[in-house]
Amino acid sequence: MTTPKAAPRSKATGKENRTRHLVFILGDQLDHESAALTDFDHKQDRVFMAEVATESTHVWSSKPRTAYFLSAMRHFALHLRKQGFEVDYASIDSHSFAELTAALSAAIDRHRPEKVVIVEPGDYRVEQSIREWFGNNGVTKNVALAIREDAHFLLSRREFVEWSKGYKQLRMEFFYRMMRKRHAVMMDGEEPLGGRWNFDAENRGAFGKAGPGEVPVAPVFVPDKITIEVFNDIEKHFPGHPGSIDKFAWPVTREDALTALKSFIHGRLGKFGDYQDAMWTNQPYLFHSLISAALNVKLLNPREVIAAAVQALKKGQASLESVEGFVRQILGWREFIRGTYWLDMPGMRKANHFNHSRKLPAWYWTADTNMNCMKQSIGQTLEYGYAHHIQRLMVTGIFGLLAETTPQEMEDWYLAVYVDAVEWVELPNVAGMALYANGGRFTSKPYIASGAYIKRMSNYCTGCRYKPDVKTGTNACPFTTLYWNFLDKHEKSLAGNPRTSLMVRNITRMSEDDRLAIRAQALQTLNQLDAL
Ligand code: FAD
Ligand code: SF4
Repeated sequence: MTTPKAAPRSKATGKENRTRHLVFILGDQLDHESAALTDFDHKQDRVFMAEVATESTHVWSSKPRTAYFLSAMRHFALHLRKQGFEVDYASIDSHSFAELTAALSAAIDRHRPEKVVIVEPGDYRVEQSIREWFGNNGVTKNVALAIREDAHFLLSRREFVEWSKGYKQLRMEFFYRMMRKRHAVMMDGEEPLGGRWNFDAENRGAFGKAGPGEVPVAPVFVPDKITIEVFNDIEKHFPGHPGSIDKFAWPVTREDALTALKSFIHGRLGKFGDYQDAMWTNQPYLFHSLISAALNVKLLNPREVIAAAVQALKKGQASLESVEGFVRQILGWREFIRGTYWLDMPGMRKANHFNHSRKLPAWYWTADTNMNCMKQSIGQTLEYGYAHHIQRLMVTGIFGLLAETTPQEMEDWYLAVYVDAVEWVELPNVAGMALYANGGRFTSKPYIASGAYIKRMSNYCTGCRYKPDVKTGTNACPFTTLYWNFLDKHEKSLAGNPRTSLMVRNITRMSEDDRLAIRAQALQTLNQLDAL
């Protein structure tokens, strides 16, 4: 798919005509309104895009994730060409550059641009490598770098830093209220619509024994020729990578992403609020929107997503509880998480509050475990590249914390396996929310739970070899054992936190014998994590 051309020469002088701007579009910048394209001059400027192996190997990127990015990139290049843009596209099969900067360097040699224009990358590592390359080579190659603010987000990195200065503790709730006011979303003058900022308490419903009932079918986007070519390239270049592309059906164009959004608003938003925390066997999507990947590569704009949800509220198609619960994720969590990433990098990547150092159980890459909650959550992750928020936080995430896994191993796993994984959103969720690796920088407590929580929120325990209420013995649920072990180990610090002091009270009431039994069972569990 690559069509590299040498910089044209002037007929009159025979001298090389330099490209004015080489607009370098990264895989998560497929924005038809990109800030890098606003002043594009078709006579003087060119677009450059590159697929490089490192982006799929720096973490062991799953096949669905790589397929999502490469397919969306190739479709975006096609879209730009149809719009008349000249695109130099370096597909993975057309060159041997492993790194983005090496591919960029070759493109600079081809086009001799005066300036390379990019939008802020979503990954600190990528931004640093580009800055570093220009620091070392910009003068010799006579090329400048312009990094433009990413207008996709509703708050800039700089504005988040300013906001954060007003607070001793970073809390999403304060941020969310500011964003609601600032963008006049669901406001009644200065007050929130319906008199409350947050309907979180109404957003925690479980299905009960009857289950979810009929779940509207999520749209299936059948892979086209371009996507099938991507699959072939993946099998050729990354054959041993985890996950499967057999069921790949994600929206990889803006048109399909808009269809996905519409299908959610009309089909699933109504029940999103009630059941956003619930889980059910063989129901990977339930009432979730499935738009995170399209949002993260910028095929969708968060403003249009919020507007569509608010419109559904106005038309009476969805309740305030549902719409607020959904808008909170986009206007609140998504923007807040991005702000914290840029505020705390690079330190966030090294954070390890509890000094955990155990290896990630091998079955995180295969789903081959007897723990049914993990088998279900990891199984669908590898099959579809998707799990919803509570599966990521309260199942795979919490288990990683309770199993004392090295945060960096967990972070690499999360970055590798989800189609929507970009580091700015993955890392704060893993290090900050799931693992408490940054010591509660933006959460008031570690999120921990025993098997009882999973039993309440799903039907996973019904088909499990373990028993959620049992702490010790052969049937003991590893979640439950390790939950009590965590309370036992961190009793002092948890007792001092008003949000966790109640939890610890139960362990303080326990006899010394019971505590010893839990410690012994936990040690045995931790020493054979791979066999669970
Ligand atoms: P819905 O449940 O329908 O929510 C709507 C949208 O809100 C999502 O599409 C997403 O854009 C946004 N959103 C919801 N929760 C969050 C959140 N905590 N942080 C930021 N945005 C949020 N999301 C990613 O996009 N990429 C990741 O790599 C990622 N890793 C995560 C890792 C962990 C440990 C946890 C706990 C969460 C992670 N999330 C990540 C957030 C969330 O799980 C996903 O955004 C969501 O599951 C995507 O599915 P959906 O589109 O159906 O979302
Ligand atoms: Fe998970 Fe424990 Fe329930 Fe099994 S019993 S599904 S391990 S919580």
